[in-house]
Amino acid sequence: ILEVNQLSKSYQSGDRHLTVLEEISFSLEAGRSLSIVGPSGSGKTTLLGLCAGLDTIDQGSVSINGHDLSQLSEDQKAQVRNENVGFVFQNFQLIPTLTALENVMIPLELLGKSSALEEAEALLDQVGLANRKDHYPTQLSGGEQQRVALARAFSNAPKILFADEPTGNLDEETGSKIEKLLFDLNQDKGTALVLVTHDIELAHKTDHMIRLKGGKIFESNMLSQTTA
Ligand code: ATP
Repeated sequence: ILEVNQLSKSYQSGDRHLTVLEEISFSLEAGRSLSIVGPSGSGKTTLLGLCAGLDTIDQGSVSINGHDLSQLSEDQKAQVRNENVGFVFQNFQLIPTLTALENVMIPLELLGKSSALEEAEALLDQVGLANRKDHYPTQLSGGEQQRVALARAFSNAPKILFADEPTGNLDEETGSKIEKLLFDLNQDKGTALVLVTHDIELAHKTDHMIRLKGGKIFESNMLSQTTA
């Protein structure tokens, strides 16, 4: 489902050239889970953004479900994302002027679903928030906002879900609820998971783990890893 080949990324700030990722290669099979761990600044979020097609690739390639993102226009990338990918961002990125229900409905409406309302209600119910559907993001706790973000991410029935610190900033109980939702989705629906996390216990529950250090793969337990 995901193939990353010799992926590098650098940023130019003034006359300084900062290499953030260097020749990263790995692949993930459909329905499996992978965590990306490593110290702050090691490039985890950057790698996730590139894999999910949210950022431009400088060097190397990323394929999602057989589509090489580096060869696609922005419109084509958006289509591959709509059809295959769900994301949960570190800061949720819910739209503040829309209710929980409306936030979950957006991707369904983009897909032109006539049953967007019913499906969004069912998704909110699934994450235990049926009774909060008319609340705006500011009227929800952090954990509730995270669950709305998850319901939204599940809405296009993604083949692969990318999540940046899905349990970060949540209390233990809420964190384990979110964790359960993620693994249920992985097991029941066969959605592949790619998680960035500081939580090593969570990382050990995934099928594979990649540890980044200074933008390189420092350690990996992936049998199918293709890096030299
Ligand atoms: P954390 O665990 O703290 O979230 P991370 O491993 O996710 O860190 P990234 O957010 O991927 O790290 O950042 C990697 C490096 O790239 C950092 O040194 C950061 O300052 C730099 N960086 C990220 N985005 C940009 C940008 N848009 N322009 C310039 N430098 C950037």
